[in-house]
Amino acid sequence: MGLKEYEAKRQFEKTPEPKPVQGPPGDHLIFVVHKHAARALHYDLRLELEGVLKSWAVPKGPSLDPVVKRLAVRVEDHPLDYQDFEGVIPEGNYGTGSVIIWDRGFYRHPAASDRQESERLLLADLEKGNLKLALAGEKVRGEFALVKTKMDEKSWLLIKKKDGYATREDILKENRSVISHMTVEEMAAAGPERAHGQDRNNRSRPREAMADDELEEAPLAAMPHGVAPMLATLVKAPFDHPEWLFEVKWDGYRAIAEIRDGEVSLYTRNQIPLAKKYAPITEALQKCGFAAVLDGEIVVVDDQGRPDFQMLQNYRKSGRGHLLYYVFDLLFFQGHDLTNLPLRMRKDLLRKVLPADRHIKFSDHVWKEGVLFYQVVKDKGLEGIVAKHSQSPYLMGKRSRQWLKIKTRLSQEGVIAGFTAPRGGRKFFGSLVLGAYDGGELTYIGHSGGGFSAANLKQIHDRLQPLIRKECPFKTEPPGDTPVTWVRPELVCEVAFAGWTEDGLMRQPVFSRLREDKAAAEVVRELPEEI
Ligand code: MN
Repeated sequence: MGLKEYEAKRQFEKTPEPKPVQGPPGDHLIFVVHKHAARALHYDLRLELEGVLKSWAVPKGPSLDPVVKRLAVRVEDHPLDYQDFEGVIPEGNYGTGSVIIWDRGFYRHPAASDRQESERLLLADLEKGNLKLALAGEKVRGEFALVKTKMDEKSWLLIKKKDGYATREDILKENRSVISHMTVEEMAAAGPERAHGQDRNNRSRPREAMADDELEEAPLAAMPHGVAPMLATLVKAPFDHPEWLFEVKWDGYRAIAEIRDGEVSLYTRNQIPLAKKYAPITEALQKCGFAAVLDGEIVVVDDQGRPDFQMLQNYRKSGRGHLLYYVFDLLFFQGHDLTNLPLRMRKDLLRKVLPADRHIKFSDHVWKEGVLFYQVVKDKGLEGIVAKHSQSPYLMGKRSRQWLKIKTRLSQEGVIAGFTAPRGGRKFFGSLVLGAYDGGELTYIGHSGGGFSAANLKQIHDRLQPLIRKECPFKTEPPGDTPVTWVRPELVCEVAFAGWTEDGLMRQPVFSRLREDKAAAEVVRELPEEI
């Protein structure tokens, strides 16, 4: 189809929509669903294929209910840059009205293993008028069929396939942009000058002016308290993509800092205070002359710069290692709520305002090249990387697909449900019996008998003594004839392991650390998702 029709319909000096330009492709195809309040409200499903966005207008919007068939009218191809467009198309232009990025994510052909194969299969499907899609957005998830009808050349049907993502719940109720968090009505009220996306991000301007400029777009608000951090979704493999940036996944305590009038509160994801324990960080933050909420990770690194969790836990007593707060996000600054600004703007601002201090570091990132970065991180023995969409808003307490994590080694959290008696020269206990929640029920996931230092054995043993009880906390008692001393399932630990068995057990789990910052109820089997 090409972009001739798209260009012919638009006068680019009169609309904020992008002119066609071609950028380099990423390792995964993207899709976007625009919600468009034109003369008639509709949703536009756009699929990256052959360097453009193949587009369908879906009047009633997508549904995750396999019983529902939604009409999807094929419209002209849009340029790839259109994926970043949201804003207001002024009166007198084609498609007048407000547009938000209602959903976006990666997609592929369900049978394909990489981008090339996906494109080949999708193009063949498109020819046949029967597209099979696996979509991984924030709202639209799982497999779909997009099928051409015999009515006319342009009418297709969008149908959800039966899979784990199928639901009768109405996903259209979630009516906000996954980028700006605005509704189409709020976008319309904000007016054409609020239009953003590519344009707003790439604007070149003097560095000094930037902070004020960015703050102008962030609404005034009261400082949030007790912030639950935004979480990333675990996926299998790293990737390259021009719209994404990549950070080191630090191996320490995720920590939110609230700074106001020299007062600092520093706490974990489940609100355990850390300000006293890591006083040098608190003191450094107290000297910041501004009010802000930061998100980052507290680590203690050895002389080679490698994070060492044991040193982190012992830091207060031993003072060994270098204590660092790696800050990677800025949620609030000087009276402005920044959570709905694109990530790259928050990071630009953070980099500028973060004070120079030996305990505070800007957690830097690389652009586009996730595969190479992952290899470097792996070679250095670090835990993994976090991939973030450069336009992602900060969604408090939400596990998003705009943030993805890729680990260099498998790790899993386990709720300690019991322990076995020590054997041979071992003291205190033999192995820990671990569980994870599955549909609200604690389920056995394996025994971990290795990885403990002498100090670990005593510390964990002491912590478990007051928790001892008669009843097994699992609904089904795990197999095996070694007697187990059961405990109230409260303590959480992290183990490294070699993979999952078909029965959902961990192979060769090796203890790595206690996780004081995780609540037992949060612990589930973490299985990597497909992209
Ligand atoms: Mn439209």
